[in-house]
Amino acid sequence: MKRLIIATAVVAAFAAQAQSYPTKPISIVVPFAAGGPTDRVARDLAETMRKLVPNSNFVVENAAGAGGTIGATKVARAAPDGHTLLLFHIGMAATPALYRKLQYNPLEDFEYLGMVNEVPMTLIGKPQLPANTYRDFENYIRANAGKLNLAHAGLGSASHLCGLMWQSAVKANEAMTTIPFGGTGPAMTALIGGQVDVMCDQTTNTTGQIESGRVKAFAVTTAKPLSGHKLLKDYPTLNEMGLKGFDLTVWHGLYAPKGTPAPILATLNTALKAALKDPEFIKKQEGLGALVVTDRRVEPAEHKKFVAAEIIKLKAVVDKAGQYAD
Ligand code: ASP
Repeated sequence: MKRLIIATAVVAAFAAQAQSYPTKPISIVVPFAAGGPTDRVARDLAETMRKLVPNSNFVVENAAGAGGTIGATKVARAAPDGHTLLLFHIGMAATPALYRKLQYNPLEDFEYLGMVNEVPMTLIGKPQLPANTYRDFENYIRANAGKLNLAHAGLGSASHLCGLMWQSAVKANEAMTTIPFGGTGPAMTALIGGQVDVMCDQTTNTTGQIESGRVKAFAVTTAKPLSGHKLLKDYPTLNEMGLKGFDLTVWHGLYAPKGTPAPILATLNTALKAALKDPEFIKKQEGLGALVVTDRRVEPAEHKKFVAAEIIKLKAVVDKAGQYAD
């Protein structure tokens, strides 16, 4: 009986706390520049979550730089009151391997709120490149070793990781100079303008540009062809092109600073799960080649378990490429 009274009191206290939340706009920090793929997911998510958390206003804040680590550090140090969240992608697991001095611990400094989506990547080039097929592209890169630039969103970003993996798989590690941007939104502008030559980026950013012919696509990064995608189904996988076992899919997850109260975490997780079932959100994501997560990784514990496994997997990839940042 006594135990029941205590439990009821705890539930009532939690409910009261959750009711007084939010007290101001909830900021979703995107650790990349505006106009890129992570920003795109965050804006669609903010719009959907706004409808699901009573009296809320979700806003997107871009805190770009250093492959997403500046934005992630900002959220790790933010007040744990549920008003500052982080939407980060695969970089959450890649940066611990790439950065010798990371200002946060991805497994200890955050509360996990659930995964959002998975997005394949595409290997693309500026429209002026003479190559039209993946084979021609690879030959062209080799023939022009030392003269070309690969754009990416900073060390540890998905575009950087993809570039590293591709260069190491084709044994062309010295072929291109890498140029970091605050995100692949601005990097895409530079690619379309011909200031950089090559990029690997999420389909959420590249689909429209490939379709309109503003950039050339050569391959997709998933192990299996994207047979369900109306535009990308005809592009080869890198695996098919001889890069055996090449398989890279970017995933996005939502996080809060460590110590955020449990009722607030529960409110946010419930809203996230509802957002992932929202037909409009699903349609928008699918149109850009992204798949909304429907499995158990929408649960915080499973999300965390998945990221822990990815940290181990990506450390092996980065160690193989042998490039680190300070
Ligand atoms: N797509 C970027 C990356 O390479 C990040 C972004 O701008 O969203 O990680």
